[in-house]
Order: sequence, then structure tokens, then C-alpha cells
Amino acid sequence: ERIGYAIIGLGRISVEEMLPALGEAKGSRAVALVSGSPEKARVVARRYGIPQEAIHSYEEMERLRDNPAVQAVYIALPNAQHREYTERAAAIGKHVLCEKPMATTPEDAAAMVAACERARVKLMIAYRCQYEPNNREAIRMVRSGELGKLRFIEATNVQSSGTAPQWRFSKALAGGGALPDIGLYCLNATRYITGEEPVDVFARQYSPPGDARWKEIEESVAFTLRFPSGVMANCLCGYDAFNDKTMRLHFERGTIEMPNAFAYTGQQFYIARREGDVAGRLQKRIEEKNQFALEIDHFSDCIRADRRPHTPGEEGAQDQALMAAIYRSAAEGRPVELPRPPGPTRGP
Ligand code: NAD
Repeated sequence: ERIGYAIIGLGRISVEEMLPALGEAKGSRAVALVSGSPEKARVVARRYGIPQEAIHSYEEMERLRDNPAVQAVYIALPNAQHREYTERAAAIGKHVLCEKPMATTPEDAAAMVAACERARVKLMIAYRCQYEPNNREAIRMVRSGELGKLRFIEATNVQSSGTAPQWRFSKALAGGGALPDIGLYCLNATRYITGEEPVDVFARQYSPPGDARWKEIEESVAFTLRFPSGVMANCLCGYDAFNDKTMRLHFERGTIEMPNAFAYTGQQFYIARREGDVAGRLQKRIEEKNQFALEIDHFSDCIRADRRPHTPGEEGAQDQALMAAIYRSAAEGRPVELPRPPGPTRGP
């Protein structure tokens, strides 16, 4: 039996990625829509075989309570609305898969974890890369030690965000600029790749002057994290550069280079190493799978088996605390010690 989801918010990620991905998903399906635009919702419902009675406005979202086909919601709204909709979904007994960044403040993130705990519903943050096969292979190779000890991580997530007005340029709706939107992928990757929590950070932020887009939010952030094992991670995110989402892992005896590590598709995996006297670089072929489908099916499995998700609310809450510290470091111009999470942030 597939787990039924109500899709809340019909923007780009829902319409262009998650709804099509549900066509490939094995244990999940869309059974209701919550949208501010009845016309758009009608078209989407028709395309995906969702009953017209299962379309609700934001105000009437609580009507999902009476639809037994809806076991969970997928929240894909502007960041500042994640808390409200998570709390409302929990209050009507629905499990929550919430898009990243989890929230816009550490306080909101903590409140979301608490609300779902109180309501005894599961909360998962949509960290798709943690379900993506190339990133998982990188994690496996770090743990196996086959290239020796991991020493450094370089994680880049830069893109050209265009000039059309959008909620991402609003501090109130987005909570910040490039950092919470795309730098979060670098930050989260340093944590799942090392399997450690960073001890301190040194950050700089910059916004090219004279551009209205960067009035409220930052255009770019560079930050260096240090980990207990001695790994250093250099991360870079920016909203006004040619697309590049590459991660590099430097080990004692080799390097892994992953173009498109944080992209929706097109991941590649190169290993440079020395074999005897010969230094070589080879490409490891890893079968591409729809990471949105893997992600939502994982949550459905957790709901069915009553298991803790691999990326629960605590994982998002820790990143939220770290991002606050990154902004503080940039503002104060000095390294900042990082808060430890109260417990493990990741499930099995
Ligand atoms: P979008 O702008 O395309 O869609 C946002 C949706 O929210 C629209 O349907 C819009 O109508 C609705 N909305 C409701 N209230 C709004 C308001 N006050 N202002 C603006 N829009 C409002 O955004 P998106 O790219 O789909 O992003 C939605 C969420 O998904 C964000 O949290 C974003 O960070 C996340 N996201 C995740 C990924 C990923 O790869 N996991 C990719 C893109 C976006």
C-alpha cells in the first residue's frame, strides 16, 4: 500500500520535480493538493489523477484531517512558512516531509521538532542528496578508508539566480540568501561525508553593491569548517555565478571529484589515485536514480515500519543552528565555536 501525500505548495520543486518523481516512486503517491491557485491545482490534479475534491486552499488545509487517504504532507512553500505548515499538519495527525532549509531560525526549527514529537507524527527534512547514489558512494568510501584518511573537503554550490523578482530575495520569506538556499547543501554534505559535527567555523559574506537583489539577503558566503578528526572543509555558495555544484574529497591516498554533486541530475564520480608507480584518474559509473523518488520512498518506508527517518527534524535543526553561527562569524569577522547537537541528528 502506497503512502498518500498531500502536496502543499505547487511551485517549481513540486510541479517540476516531486510530482513527476512520484511517477517513479514505488511506495508513495500524491492524493491531495493544497494551493493558493485553484486553476493551477485543477490542472495538476487532472494530470496526476488526484480527485478534484482533494484540492484545498491554504486556509482550508485542515480539511485534510478528514481524508484517510492522506497519511503525510510534503511542504514545498517559501522557507518562512515551513514552521506554520508543519505545526498545522502535525496538529491534524499527518506525518511531515518538509523541504530544506527546514526553517528560517533555530527557534522555529526546534519548535517544529517539538510539535511533531508532541503529535507523535514523523518529521523528515528533504535532504535529497543524502538519498542520491553518488553521494552515498562517497560516504561509503570515506567510511571504508580505501583511500586512507579523509583530510579536506571542497564544496561549491554557485548558480545564476536570474533577475526576476522572487521570494528568495526577501529576508522575511527566505531567512537569508545563498547560504540557506544552496550553501546548505555544502554545509550538510560536510556533515554526512565526515559523519562528524564541526567544531568551529570562519565565514565571510559578500554582496556586489548596486544590485537590488542583494538589498535584504546576501549574494555569497564562503566558510571554513573544522572537524574533530582534523578534516577541514572549504565551502562556497553564491547567487551570481555560472552554475557549479562540484564537491571534492581529498584523502591521504587519493581524491574524489564529484561534478554536479548537489544537482538534480548529471552526477559524475572521478577517483584520482596512485597505483604503485602510476597515478591515474578513473571514472566510476554509478547508475543514476531519481533522488526525489528515493527520498520520498524512504519516508514512506519509515511511516510504514514506524522507523526514524535518516534525515529527521534534528538533522535540519542542527544545520539551522550552524547557519546562525556562520552568519555570526561573518558579522564579527572571527572564528566562532559551533553548538553540539543534543543527540544523534540522523536515523538509520
Ligand atoms: P517557488 O517559488 O517555485 O514556489 C513556491 C510556492 O509557494 C508557489 O506555489 C507559491 O505560489 C507558494 N506561495 C505561498 N505563499 C507564498 C508567498 N507568500 N510568497 C511566495 N510564494 C508563496 O519555490 P520552490 O523553488 O518550489 O521552493 C519551495 C521550497 O522548496 C523552498 O523551501 C525551497 O528551499 C525548497 N526547494 C528545494 C529544492 C530541493 O532540491 N530540495 C529545490 C528547490 C526548492
